[in-house]
Amino acid sequence: MTSDSLGTWPRRRAVKSADHPAILFRDHATSYAELAARVDRLAAALQARGVGFGDRVAYLGNNHPSFVETLFASTLLGAVFVPLNTRLSIPELEYMLQDSEAMLLVSGSELEPTASAAAGSGIRRIVIDDPDPEDPVSIADDTEDYEQLIRDAPAAPRPATVTLEDRALIIYTSGTTGRPKGAVLTHGNLTWNAINVLVDYDLTSADRSLMISPLFHVAALGMGCLPVILKGATLLLEERFVSGDALRSIERLRATTVSGVPTTFQLIMDDPAWTSTDISSLRLLTCGGSPVPDRVRAAYEARGLSFSGGYGMTEASPGVTMLPPKYSQQRGASAGLAHFFTEFRIRGADGRVLGPHERGEIETAGANVFLEYWENAPATAEAFTDDRWLRTGDVGYVDDDGFLYIVDRSKDMIISGGENVYSAEVEQAIAAIPGVTGVAVIGVPHERWGEVPHAVITLAPGQSLDPGEMVAHLSSRLARYKVPKTIEIVDELPRTASGKVRKAVLRERYDSESEA
Ligand code: ATP
Ligand code: MG
Repeated sequence: MTSDSLGTWPRRRAVKSADHPAILFRDHATSYAELAARVDRLAAALQARGVGFGDRVAYLGNNHPSFVETLFASTLLGAVFVPLNTRLSIPELEYMLQDSEAMLLVSGSELEPTASAAAGSGIRRIVIDDPDPEDPVSIADDTEDYEQLIRDAPAAPRPATVTLEDRALIIYTSGTTGRPKGAVLTHGNLTWNAINVLVDYDLTSADRSLMISPLFHVAALGMGCLPVILKGATLLLEERFVSGDALRSIERLRATTVSGVPTTFQLIMDDPAWTSTDISSLRLLTCGGSPVPDRVRAAYEARGLSFSGGYGMTEASPGVTMLPPKYSQQRGASAGLAHFFTEFRIRGADGRVLGPHERGEIETAGANVFLEYWENAPATAEAFTDDRWLRTGDVGYVDDDGFLYIVDRSKDMIISGGENVYSAEVEQAIAAIPGVTGVAVIGVPHERWGEVPHAVITLAPGQSLDPGEMVAHLSSRLARYKVPKTIEIVDELPRTASGKVRKAVLRERYDSESEA
């Protein structure tokens, strides 16, 4: 009986690099042999509790080795792993547990009582009781203890046949444009994405990858965790991101790679320990989600480090493009070139595939592109073109050398007097104004122009902003039709659990306020 499951990776690694550290967490190293043995036992324990092929196993917790173990143990059985975002509210988690019909929830004790409330009574619970000594919690009685379960389990589960086409994960999208959708990723999708990463980032078994982003995010999981295990490198797991701790870990543990979002890297360089920390072990910084601001790039480049930016989405497992570090200076604004086994194209509204410098929707294809939205055939059908390219919903263009530039989400584009206004461009211009801490630009109805841009802004404490001055400042940088006609200062912007602004909420709010 053969298996192409992701869950076999620790076993395969145990044969090739038994003693090499797979995970380092709170100064405790787990070797590949140990990881494989623990995954086998956990899988056997899950199997004894009725988990089989196709069943859903959810996980809710901060970064911890048990995340990696549960991912591999459930997928080894052919079950589907459902990572949940710890920053979601109870009703949001409840929705995901119910929508995915999870039969079991593994959670960190730090998430009590949220996990208990979200799971209700219908879902079996396993709790990792590895608490922060300063923050003890009480755990509900109707749960089982993770470590005990592994101790008491048989050494290995009964084997399961799993192919690359089978479902491995359901990951919910960020919910930036609407309700989060459960993207179903197969074993093949995640395997091919991991191969793309190995090929394009030259990852080696000597790499030590600092994981400061939460593993439940597809970026950390797909671009960080899985490729590291596939290659037999070492994951340096940080429970959560604290800039000073991250710097200490880079120096002490001799990290060679770090991945994060632009904000993470900004917080690290703004930390008081930044200049005094030895970061000479680093060779690669990978950054996704949005372009790296110039100030951030410059600070790292001054210390000999370059960024590799990337563009992706949950549905692509998640990597679509990456900017090779050697181009980070001249083409910093670009999201780069397609990953080795992935392709993208730009298509116009008329269905034509566009050439360089023409803006249109980015479409992508490759073995990393997802199977479907979980139990949502209409959304799945809408996501793909007739020839099965994924419609990303993002607008972009390529330059003469084929480098991709992301312009905006199509849903965020504003059409004003027949001209396209890309909200992201206006936001970048506003974000550069001193004192502005957050900004979202949305289109609002206008009698004459159809729609006009409206800016919603947050300011640093004690700062003020004169709307007239701001308009004057922007008018010297942007075409007139792009300059917001109205400006609103708010205390806070509505954001998703991953920090993206939920513009749909702003649009609804604007509509209801203007009706009132
Ligand atoms: P939802 O699909 O639920 O509305 P989401 O699209 O934000 O949420 P994710 O899959 O987490 O969910 O994010 C993917 C999106 O993030 C991309 O479609 C794109 O809009 C944006 N994105 C990713 N990388 C970049 C980048 N380098 N530059 C600009 N935008 C990016
Ligand atoms: Mg999306």
